[in-house]
Amino acid sequence: MVQSALCDDLFVAPGNAGTATIATNLPISYNDFEAIAQSVLEKRVDLVVVGPEEPLVAGIVDYFHGRADLKHVRIIGPTQAGAQLEGSKDFSKHFMKKYGIPTANSQTFTSETLEEGMAYLQNHPLPIVLKADGLAAGKGVIIAETLLEAQEALRAMLVGGKFGAAGQKVVVEQFLRGIELSVFVLSDGENYKILPEAKDYKRIGEADTGPNTGGMGAVSPVVFADHNFLRKVEEKVVKPTMAGLRSENIKYVGFIFIGLMNVKGEPYVIEYNVRMGDPETEVVLPRIQSDLVTLLAATAKGTLHDIEMNISPQVAVTTVVVSGGYPEAYENGKLITDTNKVDDVFVFHAGTTFNGDTDVVTNGGRVMALTALANSIEKAVQKSQRAAQTVQFEGKYYRHDIGVDLIRYKD
Ligand code: ATP
Repeated sequence: MVQSALCDDLFVAPGNAGTATIATNLPISYNDFEAIAQSVLEKRVDLVVVGPEEPLVAGIVDYFHGRADLKHVRIIGPTQAGAQLEGSKDFSKHFMKKYGIPTANSQTFTSETLEEGMAYLQNHPLPIVLKADGLAAGKGVIIAETLLEAQEALRAMLVGGKFGAAGQKVVVEQFLRGIELSVFVLSDGENYKILPEAKDYKRIGEADTGPNTGGMGAVSPVVFADHNFLRKVEEKVVKPTMAGLRSENIKYVGFIFIGLMNVKGEPYVIEYNVRMGDPETEVVLPRIQSDLVTLLAATAKGTLHDIEMNISPQVAVTTVVVSGGYPEAYENGKLITDTNKVDDVFVFHAGTTFNGDTDVVTNGGRVMALTALANSIEKAVQKSQRAAQTVQFEGKYYRHDIGVDLIRYKD
């Protein structure tokens, strides 16, 4: 954003040690709509981009639209109605079924239909997937390998209060076997642009082992998403999604992140997110050569069709360095050094903060994403990994196999 000639001033709420070097951090929670509105007015902000899902699902866009003193401010993000695509898995499954969008077969259960749910599990092949309906910070999905595990998980969510309100409804769905990738769409309410696709690496351990994380790395473009597959994604997923939103009278202004499974060359939707996701954003945005503020302003104005989007043919690879112990317990406050020694790489801060005026310390599980752009995936992997090796803090961990499966896939 800050690279754009159209951006005079950039503010980030709440921000981190990285954003502090390119923008003004505002010590405000992204869930505090009133404080955000206050700052927007004080700082004369013209364009607001909502990053996380929580305020979108809680209706920050509707709040902005509803305030007369904010009428002049453009805001990128769906209204609460549109944000249900992520905020309720039951809603998104109904939406997909209604508009013929390919997805895993599923049925939704509540505490009143627990017994039917148990019977459904019994008659269903394993593994089987159980999903808490509401937001659960990426932790609400259980892939059960045995019937007992599935039944215990269903009971724990519906009557045991696991995942709280988010688990009061549970979507039970067919397990899809395939390779995952994500496709990103920017919609102005009428028109859309498809952004570069990405593959992320969710598990903590190499060769995709161990517990899920927020993401340990990502690659864009994705070698198995060839022209033919991406055309199918547009025809079978993106177009009906846009048409469905229109039919539901949802004017969707913002990003849609479509999590897909490539099942023998056919796309199936695993999930929608109503925003860009991390660490995919760190490989998608560096490949967009068009001016980002121009793109976002056109999105807000409804003039995306006028925009020619340029995508770099280069490969972007990001490696995420995390705190030792993550995704379980880890310690914050470790001094981060040697970021100035990384060369020709984007250093995206995540869990970082200042200790005193200049020391940058860890402040979260995922600490930084190190993105390299190169003419081949091999070179981009090498550069990103070298940067991950260079940056230092006590307990640092990162995966050494980001992109390796895609290099092999090409062979
Ligand atoms: P995220 O952190 O990605 O937002 P989420 O809680 O919204 O996660 P999903 O994306 O629906 O949940 O599922 C999480 C992961 O579980 C998926 O990325 C995928 O690896 C796996 N998964 C979900 N549904 C299925 C399915 N039907 N078949 C196979 N794997 C699945």
